[in-house]
Amino acid sequence: METELLDLSLNELQNKLQNSEISPVELVEASISRYQNFDKEINSFVSFNSKESLQKAREVDVSRENGPLAGIPLALKDNLCRAGYATTCGSNILEGHRPPYTATAVKAIEEAGAIIVGNANMDEFAMGSSTETSAYGLTRNPWDTERVPGGSSGGSAAAVAAGIVPAALGSDTGGSIRQPAAFSGVVGFKPTYGRVSRYGLIAFASSLDQIGPITRTVEDAALLTEIISGHDPADSTSLDQPVPEYHGNINPKPENLTVGIPAEYFGEGVDEEVETIVRQAASDLKAEGAELVDVSLSTTEQAISAYYVIATAEASSNLARFDGVRYGPRAQEFEDMIDMYSQTRAEGFGAEVKRRIMLGTFVLSSGYYEAYYGKAQKVRTLIKRDFENAFEKCDLILTPTTPTAAFKLGSRVDDPVQMYMNDVLTAPTNLAGLPAITLPVDANSDGLPVAAQLIGPSLSEQMLFDIAYLLQELSPWEPCSAPLKE
Ligand code: GLN
Repeated sequence: METELLDLSLNELQNKLQNSEISPVELVEASISRYQNFDKEINSFVSFNSKESLQKAREVDVSRENGPLAGIPLALKDNLCRAGYATTCGSNILEGHRPPYTATAVKAIEEAGAIIVGNANMDEFAMGSSTETSAYGLTRNPWDTERVPGGSSGGSAAAVAAGIVPAALGSDTGGSIRQPAAFSGVVGFKPTYGRVSRYGLIAFASSLDQIGPITRTVEDAALLTEIISGHDPADSTSLDQPVPEYHGNINPKPENLTVGIPAEYFGEGVDEEVETIVRQAASDLKAEGAELVDVSLSTTEQAISAYYVIATAEASSNLARFDGVRYGPRAQEFEDMIDMYSQTRAEGFGAEVKRRIMLGTFVLSSGYYEAYYGKAQKVRTLIKRDFENAFEKCDLILTPTTPTAAFKLGSRVDDPVQMYMNDVLTAPTNLAGLPAITLPVDANSDGLPVAAQLIGPSLSEQMLFDIAYLLQELSPWEPCSAPLKE
């Protein structure tokens, strides 16, 4: 029964709750029982509040509170602040940190009635593609527990894939929603930059970060995006644009659709099976009447270098505030104030975060600024232009989300460059600020999910949901939870 309940979409759950076929208590109990059965092994949560969630479930009156998420258990990535709840970014430096305020996106899902059952694991400070760098242990992929779930929102993706929650929120700076969603066989959406307020998202790289949903279906991604989107005076980069009702308006019209296929996203470095499966998805759209055209995104090769300069530069500045004074633990032994800062940071940050801070500090340092940061900004402009030119020829772009399916635990964590190459198909969209959705379309010969990515022009979220929905219907993959054994 639990399996069935938690396999349902948000909409189906909402209907069953409204018709009193199920109660919020049953739903939260199902979530707790799945957590207890599976999370010892996959470790998708850093905190899980069983007692409090049950209490909240008892208090929800679904007949009166008709928020679209009333009584539904959801999870948050551990970098989204919730007043009074530990929010650690998967780092020792924020151990026990309880923010005094709540992120705007979190407030939105709370106001919609969601019961937040816990915080999902992540790569430390969202830096990574495998959820192996968390201070709270690594997360395993529910489809094959010897493999990574992707990262950095790997806990959120694994929790949804394991059916512990029907949906979760993540954040995406260079692919951190889409890549783990792809590895874990679930849907992930990165909204247009500014569509969702970043207020209360612990910053990694502020010009790239966006909060977005990880769900089992495209419709659910549309619903959650609609709930968390909107202008917020607390985030000066949030867009002052009306939020359409994405979910209720899903209406795929493939007839006049032109789909761009960029050669740079298919060739070298992309696994053959991944390429075949994603090309099949393109053919499926063609069979429905869409036209496929070749487009060129010639700056793709430079994007990853530009991303790792810009993201680390911003991170080095954003993470300067973690010095043992205002947040988290402080080193016990030190000589003077400067020593206290360095000891606290030396003890509190993990190796990958330190590497990023050093890289970022270096590329911003005088004498190197123009050669690295300045140049990366120029490349960023070219990437934006590349996309603009492509969108003169097509409505949206179809690509694989990741070059390979989920890789083995431990296989890349000691080789940063190989790890960074994971982001080659996702980071360009962050640099250009564009929306992109990933959805599983088929399984490879190892039974692992393989995903397609749709990238659209700025604020084209509705079209992305429409066409992703169509692909979801057309492709062999059926939205489901991973077949975990107790
Ligand atoms: N994997 C990328 C990185 O390590 C992206 C991370 C993210 O999107 N937060 O920077």
